[in-house]
Amino acid sequence: MLRKAYKFKLKTNSKIEKKLWSYAGHSRFIWNYFWSLNARRLQKRQSIMRYAEMDYWSKILKRSEQYSFLSEAPAHIIQQKLKDLDKAYQDGFDRTQSTKRLPKKRKKHLHSSFRFPDPKQFKIENRRISLPKIGWVSFFKSQNILGTLRNITISYHSGNWYISIQVESQLILPNSANKSDVGIDLGVAKLATLSNGKAYEAKNIYRSLETKLSKLQRRLSRKSKFSKNWFKQKRKIQCLHSHIANARKDHTHKITTEICKNHAKIFVEDLKVLNMSKSAKGTIENPGKNVRTKSGLNKSILDQGWSEFRRQLEYKSSWYGAEVVPINPQYTSQLCSECGHTSKENRQTQAQFVCVSCNFSSNADINAARNILAAGYAVSVCESNHISGRKQKPLGNCEKIPA
Ligand SMILES: [Zn+2]
Repeated sequence: MLRKAYKFKLKTNSKIEKKLWSYAGHSRFIWNYFWSLNARRLQKRQSIMRYAEMDYWSKILKRSEQYSFLSEAPAHIIQQKLKDLDKAYQDGFDRTQSTKRLPKKRKKHLHSSFRFPDPKQFKIENRRISLPKIGWVSFFKSQNILGTLRNITISYHSGNWYISIQVESQLILPNSANKSDVGIDLGVAKLATLSNGKAYEAKNIYRSLETKLSKLQRRLSRKSKFSKNWFKQKRKIQCLHSHIANARKDHTHKITTEICKNHAKIFVEDLKVLNMSKSAKGTIENPGKNVRTKSGLNKSILDQGWSEFRRQLEYKSSWYGAEVVPINPQYTSQLCSECGHTSKENRQTQAQFVCVSCNFSSNADINAARNILAAGYAVSVCESNHISGRKQKPLGNCEKIPA
């Protein structure tokens, strides 16, 4: 079974928006309420409340006079928020998930969303959806929704309300007979270079909009904090940020779809991107203060989001019946893909690869991508040899490459 989400912009009016803001507010309130209780418990080194306990107390809250407003919102979305909070704590304490942090307090402008977890609660008819306690809402339907409805999430960002519809469908593996395998080299100037010579330019949209962004930020600093004009300016900055994020994601989506559609096995460098950019604190989505002072390379990594590229490849490959295999990128830039000679001198300039042994010359990225493809095949051979019990060493070094 395959899960997929469709996201559309909602067509709202002031009446609907009022309800959306109110329900988003109620779910944010419930999150923050139990988050604070748990924060106090953690401070005292006590164990935190799990979902069942929070759910019990939330029902008591609803019955109290002070918090009776909570029963205005559909009960399911409140319960779902508590489940999300519970999950966020579990992930945060899970040592195997190094990128996850403990949940934080939610803020109005960053976190206004709620989810209807039960498909029985909503109905979709052409370009409109019926939601409990809200009624029919139209949306900009940009593509057909295929599959069984699972849940929907309503969220607000940069001035608009969106609906994200999650569906589940039977995985139909397309015929992979006439598909080739490919090695991919990820880079700074070119986002991705394939072993067949095809290259995808990076879209450094952040760089091009940076001046605009810093101008907006300078104006913000001159306004008195939390004034009407300050909020207006803040909103402008948020819009620009979301424009940058959307453009970047869109660009990566086009590339990853094309790669997954046309290839059977996709070998990519195991870059540990997250670790590389971690030095500048935080995550790709949420870079820290030090990012600006870090070198240009680090920023480019953040810009292009190699990890986003990888993430998209991973989930899309399952739609198209392809397979993503991570490869140890050691020596791929110094190794000659023609004769196998490895030397630092092979890489004379950043762009050009010239082998000092056999004189093979090629674009450096294409050479690296060809090496990744070869290393990928070596890993596959290693694996099949280990399974059949033979100890013969194939191309490359089995031990060096994590299978
Ligand atoms: Zn050579």
